Amino acid sequence: MPNKKIHLCLAHMSGNEQRFIDEAFAESWVVPLGPNVDGFESDLKKYLIDCHPSCKGKEIAALSSGTAAIHLALVLLDVKHGDEVMCQSFTFAASANPVTYQGATPVFVDSEPQTWNMDPILLDKAIADRIAKTGRKPKAIIAVHLYGMPARIDEICSVGEKWGIPVVEDAAEALGSKYKGRYCGTFGTFGVLSFNGNKMITTSGGGALICPDPESRARAVFYATQAREPFPYYQHEHIGYNYRLSNISAGIGRGQMTILDSHIDHHRKLAALYKELFNNTECIKIHSDQIDGSESNYWLNTIEINPDLTEATPESIRLHLASLNIETRPLWKPMHLQPVFSSSPAYVNGVSEHLFGRGLCLPSGPCVSREDAIMIADEIKKKVSK
Ligand SMILES: *Cc1c(COP(=O)(O)O)cnc(C)c1O
Repeated sequence: MPNKKIHLCLAHMSGNEQRFIDEAFAESWVVPLGPNVDGFESDLKKYLIDCHPSCKGKEIAALSSGTAAIHLALVLLDVKHGDEVMCQSFTFAASANPVTYQGATPVFVDSEPQTWNMDPILLDKAIADRIAKTGRKPKAIIAVHLYGMPARIDEICSVGEKWGIPVVEDAAEALGSKYKGRYCGTFGTFGVLSFNGNKMITTSGGGALICPDPESRARAVFYATQAREPFPYYQHEHIGYNYRLSNISAGIGRGQMTILDSHIDHHRKLAALYKELFNNTECIKIHSDQIDGSESNYWLNTIEINPDLTEATPESIRLHLASLNIETRPLWKPMHLQPVFSSSPAYVNGVSEHLFGRGLCLPSGPCVSREDAIMIADEIKKKVSK
């Protein structure tokens, strides 16, 4: 048994993080504001926004988590008790949970088979049906770039425009992914990033909201800092939240920004390698078929196992690899199959349920070497050929 554990996606430091943290300590900026927060926001803005003319005017607010960013987007879009919000079903629960924080109901929409993300045609039909059934328009659309794979975001935004419903683009897994030369997270009215421990970069925990203009960013920061009005005493006219990123965490983020591109490069190289390694294994399909114009960051490499061609199941492969100290994970269980959301309306076509039954996420982070990937693929091939 190999001693070294191979993780799914482990955080990886550049060595520059400590310097920013030390500066924060030296200057006593151990609070949720300060030069690292400003610096991290400016780094993100330079990376994601300044490079594309269509993103002009957008601004970024650094927050305590990606979940907080989704929540604040819904607050700013005036999602309230009794409202409905269209949400991709095939995702991590954090995409949908904030809808319920507002007392609203998520309405789940299934995926299309190529990107595994929200099916724009089904979305359009679902919105028409919601309006027919409730007499009211859903308040927002939460679309996700799952596993870093860009969604059909142009088509999703067109559906949003057609109905006059804003899109919240959950790019928590897609930092650095692009569509038509533009970064994921910059297409929707709001975009969401996560810097949790296992994402493309980490601040130990953190997130960001990409806002359409300086005014909405100011509103986001206002709500993220307890909605304090500009009085010398503490005056409150709205319910606020404690959602700002700490200056310490932001220091880690500044260090991580120095290696973001090399992380993405590593993830993409691993994707190409896995693809090559499974090339002649008919029962295994690597999820790499992007739509035209897409450049996935391949945050997690995922495979589909065809049960007609092998006795092995995703679970038997997962257990076999776990016995070798290799971590893999089933795909996200769709939200419309989650007990906690059993009373939410759902528009399904079978795609996400089908994928959930067949898929597995493979180790993908910067800590996974070429040799690791070869060994992992060999073990999987052994298992499926039995
Ligand atoms: C991680 C993740 C989030 C939430 O981000 P946190 O920073 O962990 O709160 C939201 N959506 C998706 C798709 C995610 O993977």
